[in-house]
Amino acid sequence: MALAPLVDGHTHIDQYGPDEQSGLLMRAREAGVGLIIAAGTTLASCSAVLRLAESEPLVRAGVGLHPQDLADWVDDATVTRLRHLARRPRTVEWSETGLDYQPSSPRWDLQQDAFRRQARLARDLGLPMVVHSREADADMLRLLREEGVREVGGAWHYFQGDRALAEQVLELGFHISLAKPLLRSPEMQAVVATLPLERIVLETDSYPQPFKKNRMAWTEPWQLPQVAAKVAELQGVAIECVAEATTANYLRMLRGRVPAGELSTSPHGADR
Ligand SMILES: [Zn+2]
Repeated sequence: MALAPLVDGHTHIDQYGPDEQSGLLMRAREAGVGLIIAAGTTLASCSAVLRLAESEPLVRAGVGLHPQDLADWVDDATVTRLRHLARRPRTVEWSETGLDYQPSSPRWDLQQDAFRRQARLARDLGLPMVVHSREADADMLRLLREEGVREVGGAWHYFQGDRALAEQVLELGFHISLAKPLLRSPEMQAVVATLPLERIVLETDSYPQPFKKNRMAWTEPWQLPQVAAKVAELQGVAIECVAEATTANYLRMLRGRVPAGELSTSPHGADR
């Protein structure tokens, strides 16, 4: 049985230079990745991910403002610009947005206001939200509830929480997005073993990592099958089941914005 094309639901591949794109996308396709979503973090990067999504069949865009990249309060002009970018046909979700309470992050009230404004836009446009939460889980859950984000659904990106957090995320109707930390964390592995497969999605969060000397060790979408294989092992099912389920989950979350027939299939097809 051939593996269903995988969906890498959260990346920053636009940050790889233009000369890197064709190699990165070729390696992804050869590894069986059939769709990559590139998430914007600022107005400029939202335009960049859209340019990439509009020129590469494998790529779609997410539009959003990353909490760590907020320089100021989100004003009406920014909201108008975001709305315009979010309406482009290759934009399929609201991403990246959320809350980040590290000491170096922007002030919390500013982040919360920016998130609320984005949640209202996402609901208005019917786009699922992919959220980032760092040291801010209680507020993130509260804002998702208060803003009624359940209506559009979405995913908790780069999930690294415990069972209690997973239950609250599932309770909100959200998906749990798993990335490479799963490969090395026994605590996470224990949580993932008990999650419903129909609520799991996969991602790499790829971005250039020049701090790693070996270029092939930089996180890229071609490594996504490693996460799928680990989920399969933990859930006690075949990797084919995980590929099929996580791809179906993602496409369902996108509500038809990417029909299954538009996924790229591996050049090796059934031989893989
Ligand atoms: Zn990200």
